[in-house]
Amino acid sequence: MSDYEKKKEEHPTTSSNSSSSDEEDAPDATMDMIRRFFANTLSLGGSTDAKADIKVEKVIPDLTFDGFAEHWREHGFRNIVTMVGAGISTSAGIPDFRSPGSGLYSNLKKYKLPHPTAIFDLDYFEKNPAPFFALAKELYPGSFIPTPAHYFVRLLNDKGLLQRHYTQNIDTLDRLTGLPEDKIIEAHGSFHTNHCIKCRREYDMAWMKAEILADRLPKCKKCNGVVKPDIVFFGENLPQRFYTSPDEDFQDCDLLIIMGTSLEVQPFASLVQRPGLRCLRLLINREAVGQASFVPFMDPHERSLLFDRPNNTRDVAFLGDCDAGVMALAKALGWEEELQQLITSERKKLSGSQNSDEPQPDKEKPHSNPAEKASGSREKKDASL
Ligand SMILES: [Zn+2]
Repeated sequence: MSDYEKKKEEHPTTSSNSSSSDEEDAPDATMDMIRRFFANTLSLGGSTDAKADIKVEKVIPDLTFDGFAEHWREHGFRNIVTMVGAGISTSAGIPDFRSPGSGLYSNLKKYKLPHPTAIFDLDYFEKNPAPFFALAKELYPGSFIPTPAHYFVRLLNDKGLLQRHYTQNIDTLDRLTGLPEDKIIEAHGSFHTNHCIKCRREYDMAWMKAEILADRLPKCKKCNGVVKPDIVFFGENLPQRFYTSPDEDFQDCDLLIIMGTSLEVQPFASLVQRPGLRCLRLLINREAVGQASFVPFMDPHERSLLFDRPNNTRDVAFLGDCDAGVMALAKALGWEEELQQLITSERKKLSGSQNSDEPQPDKEKPHSNPAEKASGSREKKDASL
């Protein structure tokens, strides 16, 4: 990514946020924040002063989860963007990359890596791809099924409300719900396609799956280079669509739903800053994340999540499991039965196709090499890796 692009990424264009004018006034905003910081944190400046400084014009009157649900019931939303991380897949049995103890990194000791993140390091992979493929075998998509949180996103799409779904996950569970491919942006790539790291020849998912499950190092048939799933390693660019789609997606976005992400990995986390200031942002997550750093001048535009803060105008949080969050929401919206039916019927379809010889319910890429089909065992993975 060039420096220019980086800047663009950090300071997204404001064309979609024309409703706001005062946010452009960075020095004032920064001073305001510094004042507020000392007033709130250190009890300096007097409480009345601090309160007078805060311009509170809430987008909806009640920013509790119940208040938000009531607003949705009565007024609806039209253009919803969802952004999700590992937290929506944990109930499917896929370990969270970052949870201490249960997380993926904690399970990597047996690979004797120089450091845990080496497994997703391109330089390391080129020298020693074996640990990655051993891990890939454990995590291989097809052994897991989507969660209620995944199906909630599909339901939004079925209702014509979903503008786009951004996922950090490489597990392809978003696709497995039947969500159309053009609605999904896999920001960190996925196992869906694979390329030779030398000559860039493409290989399909069925071929890669057969290689991985047979414990063979996937080698290019043309040049004998290692074939790597198109998941984004450290030192690799994110897929182009991650950079080109947000301008359009957030133009008229009136609700951003953030689920199961630590909001610590950039540039993915910066998506929370993209919608206009009148767009509501709902966080469904176990921990309260995305809030301003302790030192407020680190974030002069104060676009981090503000739930539970006195100056919150549009952020709502459900702190709990993603599945519990979407179920509570579905219930509040009268969609509970519909969501349940969708989950049941789609899972039935999936178990049907997973029991057949098809490695994926998706169509296979016609131009890739179909010579080998997955024929290995199709046993379900134990939920606790
Ligand atoms: Zn090759």
